[in-house]
This record gives sequence, C-alpha cells and structure tokens, in this order.
Amino acid sequence: MNTSPASDRNLQGITGCLSDYDPEALKVQQAQDIMREYIQPVCGMEKLTIRQALGRVLATDIISPINVPAHDNSAMDGYALRGDDLVDVQKLSLEIIGTALAGAAFMGAVMHNQCVRIMTGAVMPAGCDTVVPQEFTSKISDTQVKLSAGNLHAGDNRRLKGEDLAIGKVAIRKGKILSPADLGLLASLGIPEITVQRRLRVAIFSTGDELRSLGEALEAGCVYDSNRYTLYGMLTRMGCDVLDMGVVRDNPEALEAAMRSACENADAIITSGGVSVGDADHTRQMMHRLGDVAFWSIAMRPGRPMAFGKITSAGKSAYLFGLPGNPVAVMVSFYFFARQALQQLMGADVPPLPLFNVKSNADIRKRPGRTEYQRGILAMRNDGEPGVSITGSQGSGILRSMSEANCMIILHHDQGSIAAGEKVSILPFEGLI
Ligand code: AMP
Ligand code: MG
Repeated sequence: MNTSPASDRNLQGITGCLSDYDPEALKVQQAQDIMREYIQPVCGMEKLTIRQALGRVLATDIISPINVPAHDNSAMDGYALRGDDLVDVQKLSLEIIGTALAGAAFMGAVMHNQCVRIMTGAVMPAGCDTVVPQEFTSKISDTQVKLSAGNLHAGDNRRLKGEDLAIGKVAIRKGKILSPADLGLLASLGIPEITVQRRLRVAIFSTGDELRSLGEALEAGCVYDSNRYTLYGMLTRMGCDVLDMGVVRDNPEALEAAMRSACENADAIITSGGVSVGDADHTRQMMHRLGDVAFWSIAMRPGRPMAFGKITSAGKSAYLFGLPGNPVAVMVSFYFFARQALQQLMGADVPPLPLFNVKSNADIRKRPGRTEYQRGILAMRNDGEPGVSITGSQGSGILRSMSEANCMIILHHDQGSIAAGEKVSILPFEGLI
C-alpha cells in the first residue's frame, strides 16, 4: 500500500496500488478502505469536566490512580467470618462482636468462632475473608448466630481490592467515544477532568436549482431541501459542530465560492447533489482545480455517485464528501462512508459495525454485484425469533422508508435474492438511549 509520508498522501498514490481499482464500479469495501488509508486525524485537544465530555473522543489513555474497590469488601448483607472456621458449616455457631457498614468499618480484630454483622460494600474486618449471606443464617440471640444452610467456602461473597481495576492499569483507552458508563467510571476513579479531542467542524450545503429552503414558497417542480436536516441530525449525534451553508445553485462559480468558504472554515465538507453523471462535469473540473478529489460510481444501492478527497483554499484544507442528492442515498452514504471517515478524522477508534443475522420475513429480490441497503423493521416473530421486514417501497427518494425503519438490511456485494426465512445482515439504528 501507500508508503509515502502522511502529508504527501494522495488518492492516486493509494488507488494506484490497488490492482482492481475501477472508479466506475467501486465496491463498497474498496471505497471504505481507500478512505481509511487517506484520512489523517485532526490535531487539537481540550480539557473538559467529565460531564462535558459525554460523546467526545478521549485523547489520552486513562490510567487508574487507585484500586477499585479500594479495600476488600462484602458483596452481600450478612456476617463476615474467618474462612478457616468453616469446618463443619451445619454446626457452626458464631459470636457476633460488632457491625460493619458501608462507610463505617469495624475496627477490631475477629477471632476464631466470632463474626461481624456486615452490609454490602462494607470493608472486610481484619482477619475475615468470607461473608455468609443473611439468608443462610439464623439468629440465636443478639450476640449469637448459627449458619443454617448453603454451601459456603472460604473467600465467598468477598470482593477483592483492585478486582474491578488495579492501580496503574488502563481504565479507558484513548480513542474511545465516551459513554455514560465511562463518565461513571471516571468519577469512580476520582477523576474530575480529562483531555478530549477537539470537536470536528463540518460544513454542509445542498446543491440543486430545484431546492427550496424552509420558509420559501414551493413553486412547481421544486422540493424542500431535506438533506441539510438529516445531515444536521446525524452530524450532531456524532458530536460535530455543523456549519450550515444553505442551498447553493447549480453553477460553477457559486459552487466554487461555497467550496472555498467551506474549506477555509471547516475540517470536512459534506455536500449533497450535483455528483451524478449529468452534473459532474463542471463540478469535476472545479474540484480537480481545488484539490485531490476522486469521482466514484460505487456498486451500491441506493447511492452510487460519490466524490471524495481533500480540497485546499487560502492555505486551508478540508476533506470533501460529495454525496448524491437523493434523500435516502444521502443517509446511506453518510452511514456507510462519511461516518467512519469522520470518526477517524476526530481521532476515534472505529470498530467494525455490529451486524446481526436475522430471518427475513419475506422474499427480497437482489442482484449480485452490488451492495444493497434496504430499510427494515426488526421485531419479534410469533415463533419467538427476531425477524426483519422491509419498509414498503424502497425508492432512494422515499425518506419515509427511513423514518419508519428501525434498522438497515445489508445485502452484501456477492449475495443474490433472499427467500423468506433465510437470514440477512441487519444493523439496528438505535442502541439503549
Ligand atoms: P441529484 O443527485 O442532484 O441529481 O439529485 C437527485 C434527486 O434528489 C433529485 O430528485 C433531487 O431533487 C433530489 N434532491 C437533491 N438534493 C436534495 C435535497 N437537498 N433535499 C431533497 N431532495 C434533494
Ligand atoms: Mg441536482
């Protein structure tokens, strides 16, 4: 692959090493690989309090400054005792010599045949290594308890110091997009502030003479611009700052001016429309003039035309994603190309998408030789297994199919038609929250 220094990296250098590179029939996987090879993360970090860091990309490894838990402690409400007293459990009767609460340790020493009443999370008293749960005991008096049932071994129901996380170990790796659990984990380590990658600034604009912005009258043959809204939503969820540049008319001068301004003010530019064969010529020339841009026809549906590269204006550069105009094609191209590229650009780890195999509820027609992205509804079937159905008409302009869907069905490049009951790959749109 490309061995030139990162700053010299150009598309020709990368694609020249691919024996089967055909810009007119590029496989999805190849386009994704080229992008991964080409993109260099932006530099820039900032220090934030952990609450502000939700959804941001961690810039340095977090090393645990403490043991979690800090002390051996009880995993149950019950009685702490010495494991070597567990010789004949059924007959064991113990003297209760005190109480250990979470936050109020028992300070004395525990001798043979003695125990301490203990609550979950309380520090294990000196000499004790085992907790018998409350429900396996019967109290004889305020100072005497008998073990009644259960199979108890030395060390049971005790959480060891450092068992969640030992001091000096990596708690969260650099590149992680911080989740609610990560905020909690950082707090549990006593860390109030962390360093994250700076936010990406992404400029978006739509091209097309037929497009009208909200608030404008819709003349015959015109449509409202919806792409800037779906893009805004997807970029905002990714934690990007969105620079919305509106609708740009289909003419080379207007397009060049918008491109330059976007390039001077953002890390990446996402346009929609104007890259299909009919439009491409003047756009192509202008983009070649501004930088290193490839025009692809990708073997996928919806989608197909896409421009990708990097442009420069007034000494500033930005990555360019020229997506097709059709509203569903925009979302699909964003999810399967721009998303991973932007995550890489923001310095995040980009794990493979979590695809699942589930039964298709009906036949699906599909031609081998391209990747198809159908909009699906995933639900439990009567047989208790998950099943997926497509959301009616799958035209690439039908945004309603996207709105009704809760997952994407991915029919792979070499796959043919699917019979009802066969399994297909799906990608759920949403996680827990
Ligand atoms: P294009 O890729 O420019 O040829 O556009 C393909 C189709 O998508 C046309 O029917 C356009 O009217 C429609 N389209 C393009 N951009 C937008 C947009 N921003 N919002 C809604 N529809 C669009
Ligand atoms: Mg157009």
